[in-house]
Amino acid sequence: MGSDAVSGVVLGHVDLGEADRIVRLLTAEEGRISLLARGARSSRKRFGGLLDLGMRVRVERARGRGLLARIADVELVEAVDRARTEIERIALLAYGCELVGRLAGEDVPAPRLAHLLVVWLELLEGEAMPGSASRQSLEGKALTFSGLLPSLTTCAACDQPLEGGVRFDYEHGPVHVECGLGTPVTAAALARLEELRRTPLFETPGQAPSPAGWVLAEHAQHQLGGVLKSRGLLADLALP
Ligand SMILES: [Zn+2]
Repeated sequence: MGSDAVSGVVLGHVDLGEADRIVRLLTAEEGRISLLARGARSSRKRFGGLLDLGMRVRVERARGRGLLARIADVELVEAVDRARTEIERIALLAYGCELVGRLAGEDVPAPRLAHLLVVWLELLEGEAMPGSASRQSLEGKALTFSGLLPSLTTCAACDQPLEGGVRFDYEHGPVHVECGLGTPVTAAALARLEELRRTPLFETPGQAPSPAGWVLAEHAQHQLGGVLKSRGLLADLALP
């Protein structure tokens, strides 16, 4: 029993019975956590939209006998505003929350991933429209912070620099054609991904994306062992 407070970004929810919801949050201190929101389903007024995707909130949490702590109170830290007004931003919001949230562990500290998601949300609220270069930069950073990004400039098999046409092996990383199998990609396209990975997110709108397309998303999916569902909508939009 007892209560405490935690701040985080709403990653989504699942319905529980007729009235309740389980809400997932990404927090710096505890990574991904799940909380019980009693009445969130039966009464719209109960939490007033504060538990929608991408909202930054401070939650007062009450612990009872159950496995899940319950949300006793929610306070808004920062709302999703502009990012709800355009389909491209909505898709980028959903994708960022899913990718970063999935890469964070459950109940283990994730300060860098939590901060990355906050910067992503701020980017989506800004004037400039983020594009594919922004998305690739986010993927590179998120994989780096979760320890899952292989070198993008050297071969995962022989450690020598990549040149010309290469392969991306989603288990081990990019390899020379003679060193392994995988999705065809060029060393130049991977070098561009590496540049974008090191570029602050706020500088990415308007920048040229890497021709490597979705290889980092594919790599993340392979490492996570499951599809990133929000990728479909984003891919359909054909962002610049
Ligand atoms: Zn090699």
